[in-house]
Amino acid sequence: MIGTLDSMVKMYDFKSEYLTLKNEIDGKLNDVLNDSAFSSGKYVEAFEKDFSNYSGSNYCVAVNNGTSALQAALMALDISFGDEVIVPTFSFFATSEAVSLVGAQPVFVDSNENDFNINVDDIEKNLTKKTKAIICVHLFGQICEIDKLIQISKAHNLYLIEDSAQSHGAEFNNKKSGTFGDVACFSFYPTKNLGSYGEGGALLTDNKKVFTKLCMIRNHGSNKQYQHEIIGNNFRMTGFQGGILSVKLNYLDKWNSLRIEHAKLYHQLLENIDEIILPSTKKNFKHVFHQYTIRLKKRGELKEYLSINNIDSAIYYPKPCHLQKPYASQKVNCLKSEELSKEVLSLPISTHIVEDDIINVCDKIKNFFHRGKT
Ligand SMILES: *Cc1c(COP(=O)(O)O)cnc(C)c1O
Repeated sequence: MIGTLDSMVKMYDFKSEYLTLKNEIDGKLNDVLNDSAFSSGKYVEAFEKDFSNYSGSNYCVAVNNGTSALQAALMALDISFGDEVIVPTFSFFATSEAVSLVGAQPVFVDSNENDFNINVDDIEKNLTKKTKAIICVHLFGQICEIDKLIQISKAHNLYLIEDSAQSHGAEFNNKKSGTFGDVACFSFYPTKNLGSYGEGGALLTDNKKVFTKLCMIRNHGSNKQYQHEIIGNNFRMTGFQGGILSVKLNYLDKWNSLRIEHAKLYHQLLENIDEIILPSTKKNFKHVFHQYTIRLKKRGELKEYLSINNIDSAIYYPKPCHLQKPYASQKVNCLKSEELSKEVLSLPISTHIVEDDIINVCDKIKNFFHRGKT
C-alpha cells in the first residue's frame, strides 16, 4: 500500500526545525533589522567569536558560503597558476572547483571504502614539484585519517586545508573538525549539520597572518576603507545569517547526538542484511553523521522502491569529480571512487526524523530484499 503524504520520510525538513526555534530566530532577525546590521557587523562578529570558541580555534572568518571559504583559503596561502593541489575525487564538486577558480590544478586521488575519505596511501605517488597543498574532506561527518595527513604535509612541506563542510562538531581524539590543518573551511548551506537559512560559510585558523589576510580577501583586499592591499572579492556574510547561526550553534551538539542515536538504530536494524554494507566509525573518532550512507549493488532499485513507499533517499555522489565535464580530459586512476559512486545511498538521518521513521525505513529495506529472494 502506498502511504499518505503525512507518512513521507524526508531527507530534510527545514520548516519543522524552524518552528522549534521560531521565537529565538524571529527575535534575532528583529534585532538585526533594528540595528540595520545587514552586511558583516556585530551579529557576524558575534558568531565568529562563538564558532571559534566552540571549535577551539584562535580565529574565525565568516564568509558568504563554503565555496568562497575554500577559494579564500587557497588565495590566503598564495596558491595560484602553476600550482597543484591534491583533492579527493569522491567529494562535492566545490572542493576541486575552488582549486580551479584560483587558477591552480586539482590533482585527484582515490578514497577509502570504509570511511569514504581520502586514501592517504594514494597521495604520495601523486605529488610533484608543483604540489602546494592537500585539501582533505571530512566526508559525511567523519574526520579523515588526519594524523597521517599531517605527517605527509609536514614531510613534503605542503599546506593542509580541511574541507569541514560536512563535519561541524566532528572530533578526532576529542579535538574538533577544523583545528588540524593550516586553515579549515566550513559551509552553512541549509542541509549541513549547522545550516544557515540561506547561504553561509566560515574559515578557522590558528595562524594570525593567515587570519589577517583572510579578513582582507573577504572584503576586496582591504582592511581600511578604500585602501586595497591585495586582490580579494566580496565574500562577506550577511547579518541575518550571522544572527541565525549564533542561535543554531547552541543546538549543534544536541542535534549531532540525535544523528548519532539515529545511526545506532539504523545499525541495529540493518546489520543482518548481507546485501548492504553499513557505514563504519573509526575508533577515537566522533562521527556526526552528516549522512548515513550505505553501500549496495542494487542501489538504483532500492532507491526506487523506497521512493514508491514515500521514503526519500539521496545519492552523494553519483559521479566522482574527475569524471565531471571540466576535468574529464585529465588522466586519473580512481577506481574505488568510481565504484563507490555506483553503490552509495544515503538514508534520512537529520534531526526531524523519529525512531518510528527509521523503523519504517528499515522495514521497507528488509521487504525489498525479501521480495528479491522469492
Ligand atoms: C557543501 C559543500 C561545499 C560547498 O559549500 P557551499 O556553502 O554550498 O558553497 C564544499 N565542500 C563540501 C564537501 C560540501 O559538502
